[in-house]
Amino acid sequence: MFHIAIDGPGGAGKSSIAKAVAKRLDILYVDTGALYRTVGLFVKQNNTDPKNAEAVGALLPSLSIVVKYEGGAQVVYLNGVNYGDAIRTPEMSMYASAVSAIPAVRAFLLETQKEIARHNSVIMDGRDIGTVILPDADVKIFMTASPECRAMRRYNELVAKGQNVKYEDVLAEMNSRDNADSSRDIAPTKAADDAVLFDNSELDFEQSVDAVIAIVREKVGDEANG
Ligand code: C5P
Repeated sequence: MFHIAIDGPGGAGKSSIAKAVAKRLDILYVDTGALYRTVGLFVKQNNTDPKNAEAVGALLPSLSIVVKYEGGAQVVYLNGVNYGDAIRTPEMSMYASAVSAIPAVRAFLLETQKEIARHNSVIMDGRDIGTVILPDADVKIFMTASPECRAMRRYNELVAKGQNVKYEDVLAEMNSRDNADSSRDIAPTKAADDAVLFDNSELDFEQSVDAVIAIVREKVGDEANG
């Protein structure tokens, strides 16, 4: 069993690259951002201010988040319901970022994340995987790319999903979320001391996947086949 932690800012390609790496290595891909997005959705459903720590904390006892793997893909159930792409909108990105700065929310999601890794080889992506969730991960990668490059990728992703967005808005939203995520007191986005820094601004998708696999093989050797 081996664990790969991928951290970095939004739009660096963490989730799509990690998903492809998981497939090649036949291990689980764990998208932790989806958990924060799901908390965000629940907060919105309850007409609660996502920045109000006390009000959000008061909602947690009525929230159940269950992660399942169906056909190899992660599915998150919020009180028994899978809301699919409803957690992927720019609005839910902001909700996720706001609730993720609340210590009670991070504590609430901690065990769910650790538990998945306890029983499986995983590649897990987020902001604090190499520092908090899997501090003993065999491989830690801090993945990034220039802000413009990340915003363009996120814009293309949203357009491909049929969302009507402007590049300038995506860039502004990304910069504001980056600032919030990296300046917060709890679990700010930052590379673990022993993480490999990987800037993929100049690489295409396949090259990035190959680069990650090469880093993984160097660290875990033959255990990572595929
Ligand atoms: O990665 P994704 O864009 O889906 O994450 C949404 C938000 O959830 C991020 O902006 C970040 O604030 C938060 N997050 C976090 N810790 C993680 C994963 C996501 O704080 N491990």
